[in-house]
Amino acid sequence: MASKRQIHVGSVPIGGGAPVAVQTMTKTETANLAATMDQILQVADAGADIVRVAVPREQDVEALKTIVQRSPIPVIADIHFNHTLAIKAIEAGAHCVRINPGNIGGPEKVAEVVKVATAHSTPMRVGVNSGSLPKHLRDLEFDDPVEALVTAAIETVELMERLDFTDFKVSMKSTSVPNTIASNRRLSERIPYPLHLGVTEAGTKWSGSLKSAVGLGTLLADGIGDTIRISLSTFHAEEEVKVAWEILKALKLREKGPVLIACPTCGRLQFDMDTVVAEVERRLQAYEDPIEVSVLGCAVNGIGEARHADFGITGAKDMGMIYSKGEPLKKVPTGQLVDELFKEIDRYYAAGRKVQRDEHEAAAARAWLAENEDSTAITPEKLAAMEAEAARQDEEADGVLASMLTGSGAAPLDEEASPVAGRRFTRG
Ligand code: SF4
Repeated sequence: MASKRQIHVGSVPIGGGAPVAVQTMTKTETANLAATMDQILQVADAGADIVRVAVPREQDVEALKTIVQRSPIPVIADIHFNHTLAIKAIEAGAHCVRINPGNIGGPEKVAEVVKVATAHSTPMRVGVNSGSLPKHLRDLEFDDPVEALVTAAIETVELMERLDFTDFKVSMKSTSVPNTIASNRRLSERIPYPLHLGVTEAGTKWSGSLKSAVGLGTLLADGIGDTIRISLSTFHAEEEVKVAWEILKALKLREKGPVLIACPTCGRLQFDMDTVVAEVERRLQAYEDPIEVSVLGCAVNGIGEARHADFGITGAKDMGMIYSKGEPLKKVPTGQLVDELFKEIDRYYAAGRKVQRDEHEAAAARAWLAENEDSTAITPEKLAAMEAEAARQDEEADGVLASMLTGSGAAPLDEEASPVAGRRFTRG
């Protein structure tokens, strides 16, 4: 279930019904101010709400003082092992500090950090990691690794509460996707604090994105999780942000920029759709509005399958068509499809988000569509007509049977009693 409590990392609300916040972590040496700021600006540009920087040395704390002032988004200091650095990071102005109470040197050290965090009104992220659970949970970890992770997290929460500190979010990290899902489900039932979700050491851009999409997507679809970080083995932190956004957009949890729909292509394809899709995707990056644009490979199926798209193109060998909300706008030579698509999109915005349709061109496009229709293709329109016809035939058969049995034009029999009952059109 969604967290009840809310904290603020800088100006970004986390939990308590706030939009799921996207965060990432810089890959640079934090003390390298120029490189770190450069990466922060890139991730902010890609849509990160929050950024985390590693603070393993004194020189990183020094750089942090400048970073928190220059960063356009709130900065979390990531600390392991050294509670003094956590205290210094808070004093340097970090908008949040992340510590793992299990490796910071015991409850007394945690208490020292909490005291400074309270004085500065700095929130914290506290977490546990499947790779470093406390010794007393080792047996439980062997029997039930999920419960061991959850127990460690709850012990951390109880420690913070004993210290009278509730301005925190919680994370449980595991390299196992099933354990990430199961542990966060259990923990979300037991604590009211915001949850930070991530699959630790998820992998390369390809496998890590998929693991994260499955693990985090499952939880987010259940309403669990208040901020997410996608961990990918790439120096380009902005890639993590893009993947996070795709997950949130796919679940319709947040909107950001256009949504591109593209068919997988098949034997009906007659033009170079790979190049067209890549070019459409590249040009759409210049738009911020969440319009839906579809690129589909064949004319007849394409227009039906993407009738909800704000704009779309569908191609054939030499000619293609541009449409909006399933209605043709114009036909154009395939080589000009992308240029003409963006002309239509720009005309739409210039007219105050109104589709501009030239009836003459639309009629020509409709005629082209009719000429190129694949009579064997099952379009949504054909499907609806077939279903309606099947329903009509069922009704007729029920009526005839009822007349035969009762000798009158009685009402149709119920489905149980009728030998023709239950016959319905089914999609192949
Ligand atoms: S839209 Fe056309 S080309 Fe694309 S997958 Fe469907 S049938 Fe194939």
